[in-house]
Amino acid sequence: MSVKQLKAELRLPSPISPVTPSWPGSEALSIAVKRDDLIHPRISGNKWRKLKYALEGAERQGVKQIVSFGGGHSNHLHALSFACHQLGIRLEAIVRGQYQNNLTSTLLDMRAWGAQLHFVTKVEYQRRTDAGYLNRLKAEFPQAAIIPEGGSQQLALKGVAELLAEQPLDFEHIVLPVGSGGTLAGLMTGLVHRPDIQVHGIGVLKGQGYLEDSVEQLIGEHAHSPNWRIHHGFHHGGYAKRSKQLEQFCRDFAQQTGIALEPVYSGKCFWAVKQLMAENVFAHGSRILMLHTGGLPDTRRNPN
Ligand SMILES: *Cc1c(COP(=O)(O)O)cnc(C)c1O
Repeated sequence: MSVKQLKAELRLPSPISPVTPSWPGSEALSIAVKRDDLIHPRISGNKWRKLKYALEGAERQGVKQIVSFGGGHSNHLHALSFACHQLGIRLEAIVRGQYQNNLTSTLLDMRAWGAQLHFVTKVEYQRRTDAGYLNRLKAEFPQAAIIPEGGSQQLALKGVAELLAEQPLDFEHIVLPVGSGGTLAGLMTGLVHRPDIQVHGIGVLKGQGYLEDSVEQLIGEHAHSPNWRIHHGFHHGGYAKRSKQLEQFCRDFAQQTGIALEPVYSGKCFWAVKQLMAENVFAHGSRILMLHTGGLPDTRRNPN
């Protein structure tokens, strides 16, 4: 199928739903969720936005092979595998860790969609952005386009920024999870003329300093926009680390609002909103948009 046909299957624009969670202080605010989790059951949330222009470019240039990177549970590789399968592109997935005898559900889906899995050690994986390493990959896969981890590259920013133009942006605050920073960087490039909107990234891993640098590098000349910051107190011990309380929070939120969360990204992000609210970070009467970036495992799994 073509990218155009693939796009016809996506739910875009994604809706914005008002929510009224029973959090202390929430009655004084107006809270809504941008439902990017509903865009597609497999090409989940922000991953479609980040990949859109890369996939269109690949189609235009007749690229039939893509190399990309991720862990054994990577939502990016999962989304990209499905898209490549649909578009007739061969995916060479460089996977961090030795999973060959112990494939995760993500890797099983990817294999079912025809992705070629290349398992590398953590040490090799650390070299994924080194020029020398990338040159070696280019020599090994000379016809391929290389997409960085998380799909976070310059080309991703425009696709992310488009989400801001889908509805009137009647908010003082936007809150979103931050993994590699591509989504936050994309939003900031789209908000250059909106100094009235504060953007709060919620770090989902221990990344103080490193995450800010990644965002600044991606947004380049807009780096010094004062309207964004990353909150580092909500990672719950690190990437994919969770607590009983966080799991309970996700269940409670789903029960109160009908919106499912997962504990790796959206759960930590929405939990943070509840805590920031308790710390009076949001002025009385503020309108807050929480970006649900997707990533729900049970909706993304390959049914076969
Ligand atoms: C990948 C991912 C993120 C992180 O986005 P970045 O652009 O890497 O910061 C957030 N939420 C979900 C559900 C994701 O899969």
